[in-house]
Formats: sequence, C-alpha cells, structure tokens
Amino acid sequence: MAGILFLISAPSGSGKSSVVNRLHSLVTDLEFSVSYTTRAPRGSERDGQEYHFVTRERFEQMIAEDAFLEHAEVFGNYYGTARHSLEDAFRAGRDLLLDIDVQGARQVRERLPEVVSIFLMPPSPQILETRLRGRSRAEGVVDEEVIRRRLAKARLEIENYREYGYILVNDVLDIAVEEMSAIVSSERLSRGTGPVTEEDRRLQEIAERCRQRN
Ligand code: GDP
Ligand code: ADP
Ligand code: 5GP
Repeated sequence: MAGILFLISAPSGSGKSSVVNRLHSLVTDLEFSVSYTTRAPRGSERDGQEYHFVTRERFEQMIAEDAFLEHAEVFGNYYGTARHSLEDAFRAGRDLLLDIDVQGARQVRERLPEVVSIFLMPPSPQILETRLRGRSRAEGVVDEEVIRRRLAKARLEIENYREYGYILVNDVLDIAVEEMSAIVSSERLSRGTGPVTEEDRRLQEIAERCRQRN
C-alpha cells in the first residue's frame, strides 16, 4: 500500500524548520523530503541533509529530464522535489513530508490530490519580523533587503492559507509541534484498521481543531 504524502508550507521565518526538526524525534516512519536547491548553504547546512545543493545548470538539466514532482523559483533561486523522493519513501513503507512553498504546493495538489496539506502561520506579522531578524542575527548578517523581501512574500503567501487542509499557528513551539504530530497520527488512524486508544482519540481531537472547513 502506498504511504501518505504530507505537505507543509509557511512564510519564511514562521518556524517551519523548528517544528519539522522537532517532529523528527516524535514521529516514526515519516521521511523528510530533501529538496534540491540552487541557493547557497546557510550556516551549518550540509549537502544532502537540509538540501541537495546544486548549480543552476544541473537544476535546469533535471527540469529537462522531468525529474521533479514540482519545482518553483523562490527568492531568485530554484527549489524542487525530486520524483524519486516519493518513490524511495513509499517503497520503504514510510510516509513522506514535503516542506515546500505555496507555488510548489499547488503543483503537488494538482498532481496528487490526496496529499494532506498543512499551513503554518506566524502569530502576527510583527512576530514574524522579530523571528526573521533574530535568525539573521544568529547567522551573523541582517540584510534589510532580504528581510523586506521575505516579509512581502509572507504577506502574499498568507493570503493563500485557504488552499490547505489544516492550519497551525506557531505561537508556542511545543503546542505547534504537538498539533503537527496529532495531524500525522490522525491521518494514519483514518486509513488504518487497528484499534483506537484513548490517546488516539485525544490526538484526533487536536487534529480536528486544526482542520479547515471550507
Ligand atoms: P536549525 O535548522 O538547526 O537552524 O534550527 P531552526 O532554524 O529550526 O531553529 C534555530 C534555533 O532556535 C534552534 O536552536 C531551535 O531549537 C531554537 N528555537 C526554535 N523555536 C524556539 C522557541 O520557541 N523557543 C526557544 N527558546 N528556542 C527556539
Ligand atoms: P522557517 O524554517 O519557517 O524559515 P525557522 O524555524 O528558521 O523558520 O524559525 C525562524 C526563527 O524563529 C528561528 O530563529 C527560530 O528559532 C524562531 N522560532 C521558531 N518558532 C518559534 C516559536 N514558536 N517561538 C519563538 N521563536 C520561534
Ligand atoms: P529556505 O531557503 O528558507 O530554506 O526556503 C525558502 C522557501 O523555499 C520556503 O518557502 C520553502 O518552503 C521553499 N522550498 C523549499 N524546498 C522546496 C521545494 O522542494 N519546492 C518548492 N516549491 N519550494 C521549496
């Protein structure tokens, strides 16, 4: 049986990496898709860990070979999910989580309508700005132009939240992480046939509160 495909989008700086990193240790049998990108590695990022870092030429060659499930240009760089990521995860009997932007999410939804999509929101535009600045300071450079661009894009991305099945607000990190893992458990449960425990019911309730009713 094929695995479940999850997708999370969030404006840059809203805490997606923080939430997704914490999920690693909480949820079993969930693979995190490593995207291809043409942007330069940040801080401690290593090739093959956070991203596969490739040249523009190589990326364009992969587009020509139809190697991507989706790809998009974000902040002047290419980002893309390779088709083989899905095939590898599902063949190994695992579910897969994609961390991709709003444009990429649209492409995936068109191709794979059964995808479970989640939008992570910052609590407010002011807090988003504070986090973006905090992260830049931690990395040693605060480029005002980069922050301005990311905030402008965040505003546009937030307008599309209705396209997602679930909405999370990353106010208190621990709560956002619990909600995210509740969504994974609840989606697995709804496809399974096993017995339902008290804890399963508690997680289902948390997930239901995050679900969008359009
Ligand atoms: P990276 O992927 O290793 O760069 O980590 P992240 O970008 O996800 O997070 C950067 C740092 O901020 C990590 O050390 C996180 O543990 C920390 N962090 C994230 N969220 C919170 C929070 O809500 N409170 C505190 N105190 N630290 C946080
Ligand atoms: P993204 O991956 O969405 O770009 P990050 O995970 O890098 O965002 O988070 C951006 C910044 O905000 C980081 O410095 C991180 O430590 C901080 N952060 C993330 N979540 C929270 C939270 N719930 N409360 C306070 N700070 C947070
Ligand atoms: P960052 O450079 O901060 O890691 O990511 C910038 C943006 O690119 C984020 O919105 C992130 O979700 C998006 N992104 C990362 N990987 C992919 C991908 O494989 N495809 C698409 N479409 N967007 C991606």
